[in-house]
Amino acid sequence: MTTTQPDPAAGAAVKAADRAHVFHSWSAQGLIDPLPVAGAEGSYFWDHDGNRYLDFSSQLVNTNIGHQHPKVVAAIQEQAGKLCTLAPGFAVDVRSEAARLIAERTPGDLDKIFFTNGGAEAVENAVRMARLHTGRTKVLSAYRSYHGATAAAINLTGDPRRWPSDTASAGVVHFWGPFLYRSPFHAEDEAQECERALAHLEDTIAFEGPQTIAAIILETVPGTAGIMVPPPGYLAGVREICDRHGIVFVLDEVMAGFGRTGHWFAADHFGVTPDLLTFAKGVNSGYVPLGGVAISAEIAATFDQRPYPGGLTYSGHPLACASAVATINAMAEEEIVENAAEIGERVIGPELRAIAERHPSVGEVRGLGVFWALELVKDKETREPLVPYNASGAANGPMAEFAAACKRGGLWPFVNMNRTHVVPPCTVTEAEAKEGLAALDAALSVADTHTHAG
Ligand code: PMP
Repeated sequence: MTTTQPDPAAGAAVKAADRAHVFHSWSAQGLIDPLPVAGAEGSYFWDHDGNRYLDFSSQLVNTNIGHQHPKVVAAIQEQAGKLCTLAPGFAVDVRSEAARLIAERTPGDLDKIFFTNGGAEAVENAVRMARLHTGRTKVLSAYRSYHGATAAAINLTGDPRRWPSDTASAGVVHFWGPFLYRSPFHAEDEAQECERALAHLEDTIAFEGPQTIAAIILETVPGTAGIMVPPPGYLAGVREICDRHGIVFVLDEVMAGFGRTGHWFAADHFGVTPDLLTFAKGVNSGYVPLGGVAISAEIAATFDQRPYPGGLTYSGHPLACASAVATINAMAEEEIVENAAEIGERVIGPELRAIAERHPSVGEVRGLGVFWALELVKDKETREPLVPYNASGAANGPMAEFAAACKRGGLWPFVNMNRTHVVPPCTVTEAEAKEGLAALDAALSVADTHTHAG
């Protein structure tokens, strides 16, 4: 592996320059301490001081193909030499090819691809399409969800990240999705959770008025809110409810799509086809900003003779599309989705369950593919979270101590609220997975000291 010669002075200069002018997202500017990164390759990145980190966060769960994949880097370089930018109204080979490769992989008849610059913008457009298609305005979304930080997407988000930006959630109604570990329905098993969650959704629709509801949006497997794999039958049940009431079913696969769960799309696990599917992140591993909406034949037909009123200057950007083509082709040639499924099932899942047995702080392990969450608790019996559910999240206290211990062990974790997510690249090898899980195991001893048992 190429690494950069350690140069602490260079790192200090990068950090000083950052603090001078960069205003960071989702951060208190005076409290943050951004790590100056010198380079990255595969599952690792490193700083200027000579510290190397195994990236169990995939950044923001987007580097599904790992860092600096040579085929994707080459495709971007080649495209830059040919055509760097082109307005959305023109046709160009890399855009058409990216759309074909995506349409071939999305479930069912989701065969038309609307390109965006990221996930939130995909959600904005999916909602707009659903409203124009149905002539209705309300959108139902689940508590414990994240759909992005733009106006409509943050209103749809169903957790405290919404609060500071909530504009009274115009047209948005939240409902509870299934989550057996902290069941809103006091269910005792998955079948009961599924049945009660569907009944609750039916009630919500009845009292909101089905004829007012344009769409229901769900993350197929909710990601940043906790990787809650839905019980068998739930998504098929939502599909049936949507069909019965003429409601557009949107699945948000911005995080779960493109191999993360061990299938191209998480919907493939459940045999469900939505009317609209949003994607971003893994489509090109974030090498150039890209997202989009895969659209059913019926909704696409709505805009056949009538213009679709949406799109930005950079929609379907050639550099982004070239990197998507190279990413998807490399994922297919190198069997990267299969790797995510296999490592998840054979190495990560069993090892996380064994880790949970050893540590009083691990309340639950859940996930699939390379998409796992450990829920950290003070007490396994009461399930009291290690950090209370509040907007301050993991910025301080035991979770911050746990994250620092991971980093000292050479592991870059993804920590949110009282959870740590195990979300390495889909390319992660068995040896890397074991190295990361060993570092996680050691760091959990720090979390254990904050439990009632510790
Ligand atoms: N939907 C989901 C499920 C996401 O996880 C995210 C980002 N974490 C978004 C939408 C928003 O994507 P972006 O940050 O690219 O706008």
